[in-house]
Amino acid sequence: MSSTQSDLPAADLLARLHSVQSRILAAAHACGRNPADITLVAVSKTHDKAAIAALIAAGHTVFGENRVQEAAGKFADRPSSVRLHLIGALQTNKAEDAVRLADVIEALDRPSLADAIDRAASRAGRCPDLLVQINTGAEPQKAGIAPDAAPAFITAMRHRFGDKLTGLMCIPPVAQDPVPHFRALAALAASHGLSRLSMGMSADYEAAIACGATSVRVGSAIFGTRLRRTAATA
Ligand SMILES: *Cc1c(COP(=O)(O)O)cnc(C)c1O
Repeated sequence: MSSTQSDLPAADLLARLHSVQSRILAAAHACGRNPADITLVAVSKTHDKAAIAALIAAGHTVFGENRVQEAAGKFADRPSSVRLHLIGALQTNKAEDAVRLADVIEALDRPSLADAIDRAASRAGRCPDLLVQINTGAEPQKAGIAPDAAPAFITAMRHRFGDKLTGLMCIPPVAQDPVPHFRALAALAASHGLSRLSMGMSADYEAAIACGATSVRVGSAIFGTRLRRTAATA
């Protein structure tokens, strides 16, 4: 897919990547965590293959995309060292492509999608790692399972997917302090014995690290601003 704007020059991208990496290190040290336990997922949605290639050439290997078709165009032929996370709300009819393409699907949030992923994984002979997305703010328009339904759903998904169900993901409401949402996600994961916590974006990844994030999903702080797209991105 072509980008909707011209991307930053490679040197600027690398400077921005390094700045985010050093802020992650500092945030980890500030709360006594090992920085090696925190994965930076570079969210490359809307940005073109050249921008992604510049980061790969500099040694960055983990990327996030929120649309399956766009992700396939940019990552289907990726080197085996490069890992792709699908982080957007996932339509059931895209599960087949998502399962074939992704290393991690962060948007498991309903039984019908679990069915579709399970069927696709059987056919493909592979299953990506899966994170249950929790709608911690109980926002009606947002993807993710509602907080009150989450414990039973997580238990069912563990039973169904076993070790492939590795953690939880959330996108806090835009206009609220994200910290209570990060804490709620961490507590929920701990109560289910799940180790991976995908939380924190460009505006709040340091706060997320202080709350235990093991993945931060950072887009604009690395790639620059995106043009707004018409369809919902979360
Ligand atoms: C776009 C997106 C991000 C990255 O957002 P930035 O604010 O640009 O860092 C993170 N998570 C999800 C689910 C997204 O859709």
